[in-house]
Amino acid sequence: MVPVRALVYSRVSTDAQERDGTSLDTQERACVEYAQSQGMMVVERIRDTASGFTLDRPGMEQIRQLLRQGAVDVVLSYAVDRLSRNQNHIGVLLDAAEQAGARLEFVTERFEDSPIGRFIVGARAFIGEVEREKIAERTMRGKAERARSGRIPQGMGKGTYGYRYDRQSGLRVVDELQATVVRHIFQRYAATQSFSKVSSELNEEGTPAFSGGRWYPLTIRRILGNESYSGHLIYRRTKRIKTRNGNGRTPRTRVVVRPKEDWIPVDGSTPEIVDRATWERVQRILQDPERIRRQPTPRIYPLRGRMRCGICASAMVGQTLTVKGKPYRYYRCRHVYDKNTKKTCSARYVQGERLEEVVWQEVKRVLSDPGIVIHELERAADQGIDETEVSRLQAVLSEVAEREKRLVHLFTLGDINEEAVRNESVNLAGEKRVIEERLASLNTARTPNPGRLNQMRLEHICQGIADWLDRAGKSERELALDALQVTVEATKDEATVSGVLPVDHPKFITNKQSCRCSSSGE
Ligand SMILES: [Zn+2]
Repeated sequence: MVPVRALVYSRVSTDAQERDGTSLDTQERACVEYAQSQGMMVVERIRDTASGFTLDRPGMEQIRQLLRQGAVDVVLSYAVDRLSRNQNHIGVLLDAAEQAGARLEFVTERFEDSPIGRFIVGARAFIGEVEREKIAERTMRGKAERARSGRIPQGMGKGTYGYRYDRQSGLRVVDELQATVVRHIFQRYAATQSFSKVSSELNEEGTPAFSGGRWYPLTIRRILGNESYSGHLIYRRTKRIKTRNGNGRTPRTRVVVRPKEDWIPVDGSTPEIVDRATWERVQRILQDPERIRRQPTPRIYPLRGRMRCGICASAMVGQTLTVKGKPYRYYRCRHVYDKNTKKTCSARYVQGERLEEVVWQEVKRVLSDPGIVIHELERAADQGIDETEVSRLQAVLSEVAEREKRLVHLFTLGDINEEAVRNESVNLAGEKRVIEERLASLNTARTPNPGRLNQMRLEHICQGIADWLDRAGKSERELALDALQVTVEATKDEATVSGVLPVDHPKFITNKQSCRCSSSGE
C-alpha cells in the first residue's frame, strides 16, 4: 500500500504562547505521533509564528503550494484553530485541499465536529439547497412557457386515467374505455356520496384501476377533484411542500393549492369527459362545509421535532388551544399532562407564532452574515462555467498522481531501479505542470480570492442572502432549519437557538413583545 503523505502544520501566534501549553514542539510531536498511529508518512513539517486571523503567513502559502503540486494527501494540524481562526480561511483551505484530492485532519478533534467544521458543512448544505431551488425554478419557468403555448408541460398529462397522451401534438386524447369508467365514478359518487362505496363497487365489478390493480377511496377522491375531466387543464394549480410526519423526523411532501393568480390554464389541450352539470354537482358535494368539517384539520408546527423543554429537557409537542372560538398554536412540554408516565413538568405553554418568529429571525441574522456563507455562495454561483473541463483536467491530474504513487510503490518493492524512477518522475512532473497551469488559469477566473474580494461585492452577496431569506416561504424556512440543524430549547420566557451556527453572543429581546431569547453556538 502506498503510504498517505501528511503535511504537519503547527502555529503559535506569539513567542509568549510558545512558552506555555501547546508550543510548536508539543503540537508537532502530537501530530507526528498521530500520523504514525494512522500509518501516514510525514513528508513535510511547517511552522508559523503568526496570528490565526490572517492567511498571509509564509507557512500558509507553502501549504497551498504543496496542495497545488499534489505533494500531500493530508494537511495535519493539532486543532482547527491552529490552522486558522477564521472560518472563511478554513473554507478556502478546505477547497484547496479538495481540489487537490487531499483532506484536512486534526489531532484533537474531528473536523466535522468542530464548531467551524460543523458550520462549513451546514452552510454548504444550505447553499446547495438554495442552488437546487434555483435550478428547480428555472425548470419550472420552462414548463410554464410550454403551458402558456397550449402544450402540456412535461410530467403532466401522461399519467391521467381516461386519457392518452399524444406525443406529437403534445395534447391529450380521450381513452374511450377509461372515460366510461370515469363517468361512472362521477355518477356513482353523486348518488352515494361515499368514496369507499364507489371504490368497493368497482372492485366487485372487477374493473381494473389505472395500473391494473384495485381501487381505493383516495383514488376516487383524486379523480373526482381532477379538473381535467371537465375539459380544463391548469398547470401550476398545486405545489409540493416539504413537511414532517407525526414523530417529526421523516420528511414528507404535501400537496397544497397555489393562489389562483399562479394558475396557468393550458387551453384546448384536454377534451372534456364529464359534462359540466355533473362536474359541478360533484364539486358542490366535495366542498360541502359539513363534509369538510368532519375531516381533521391539519395543524402545522414547523418547530416540531426540534424542540426541547427548557425545564426538564423533554421533547415539546405542538398543541392548538381554542380561545373564544379562535385557534392558537402552542408548543408544550410533553410531560405537562402526560397520562402515560408519572413524570410531570411545570413548564408553561409557549406561543407558537412568536417563538417561530424569534427562531427565524435568529437563523436569518446568522445566515445573512458570516463570511463562509459568502464564500460558499460565490463558489456555487461560479460553478458550471467550465466545470466539465475542470473536472476532466482533475481526472487527468489524479491519474498522474496515481501513476506517481505506483512508481514509488514499485521502487519500494525493488521492482525498478532508481534511474528509471527518476526518468519517469521527470516525465510525470512535466505532464502535471502543464495540466496544473491550465487548471490554475481556469480557477483564477472562477474561484474568488478572499483577499481580493472588494467590499461592495461582499455587501451585495450578503444582501442577496438576506433577500432570499426575506422572501422564504414555509418550505424554504424548513429547508434552512434543516440545513443548519436548528434545535430550540424553550420555556415560556426564554428560547435558546442552537444549530451548526457559530453564534458568538447571546441575544436578548424584551419580554414585553416577544420571547426573551438567548442563543448559543453549541
Ligand atoms: Zn418539561
